[in-house]
Amino acid sequence: MTSSNARILKPGDTIGILGGGQLGRMLALAAAPLGLKTHVLCPDPESPAFEVASTHTIAGYDDTSALDIFASAVDVVTYEFENVPGPTAAHLAARVPVRPGADALAVSQDRLSEKTFLREAGIPVAGFAAIDTDAEVAPALERLGGKGILKTRRLGYDGKGQALLRSVTDARDAHSRLGRVPAILEAFVPFEREVSVIAARGVDGTVRAYDVAENVHRDHILKTSTVPAGIDAELAAEARAMAETICEKLGYVGVIGVEIFVLPEGAPQRILVNEVAPRVHNSGHWTEAACQVSQFEQHIRAVAGWPLGSAERHSDVTMENLIGAEADDWAGILAEPGASLHLYGKAESRPGRKMGHVNRLRLLRP
Ligand code: AMP
Repeated sequence: MTSSNARILKPGDTIGILGGGQLGRMLALAAAPLGLKTHVLCPDPESPAFEVASTHTIAGYDDTSALDIFASAVDVVTYEFENVPGPTAAHLAARVPVRPGADALAVSQDRLSEKTFLREAGIPVAGFAAIDTDAEVAPALERLGGKGILKTRRLGYDGKGQALLRSVTDARDAHSRLGRVPAILEAFVPFEREVSVIAARGVDGTVRAYDVAENVHRDHILKTSTVPAGIDAELAAEARAMAETICEKLGYVGVIGVEIFVLPEGAPQRILVNEVAPRVHNSGHWTEAACQVSQFEQHIRAVAGWPLGSAERHSDVTMENLIGAEADDWAGILAEPGASLHLYGKAESRPGRKMGHVNRLRLLRP
């Protein structure tokens, strides 16, 4: 470990955050009670994180002079999105510790590297094949059982850049339809439910995993996360152990989100990891209300080099994303007993835009 990797912040120091969306906003909010300042850098002048951060910079991620000034003003850099351009991360890492580190970004930015890393780490994943031409799709689809999902290797999210392939006909020009970009074909997973694990690893190597959340999507966007998930204790322990292994194998520092498919009873392998996000995760917003230390505080502690907090849960909970006009009912939600409302302060509501979330607690000890 180099001395820069081991840097420990003290109260009053500043955490630089790349990205000014709601995740950056919630990180900045979590840093404040720990006496840490935040400096958010984002190209969007309307960034929701700006109004709660100590300082902000409006600049492109490729603006090296802005990055130099940012790096000299902060004690560590973290980020709220995994698509931080490689050169940006490298430029900053030469000047200030970047946590999570370059390995985590490289693995999560490219689905092929991600699946390859997971498989080599002994983590079960769906069968997959690299695809660079139309001609490769049909034979790979056959090898993977005749049904698969073709995904762009980079920059896909919320189901964008994906095509479901069910037949040789579907396969014919599938790669061209995706824009002929480097792609991966994954075997279709007949999952029973989708779950996720939020885990954290500190600079000292301590790893803490939160309870497993069960996630329901609507129109490819996360709608609810419910904890506990409807899976048995053994599977839940297996899922958490996988997240811990991933943190350890990456030498990770910070919070990570691990998305997992659960297959029906009788399947030879009941859980498969779908993807990892090297950041706080939407399916971990429930920790804000149901745990003593939220994923946001945990991430701040980790990147500051501070001891991790407890990941224990004191309540059962369902987190619901408020998408588009759903947030207009803020007054009704405020009136609900047991509901905690969190709005992101976005100026404009648009269909499909995450405007806030609500945590509904079911206290274990009322
Ligand atoms: P992703 O962008 O990889 O998170 O995929 C978005 C959604 O597509 C997931 O949450 C799943 O519901 C579905 N999906 C992704 N990959 C697969 C797969 N290999 N088999 C079945 N469903 C999938």
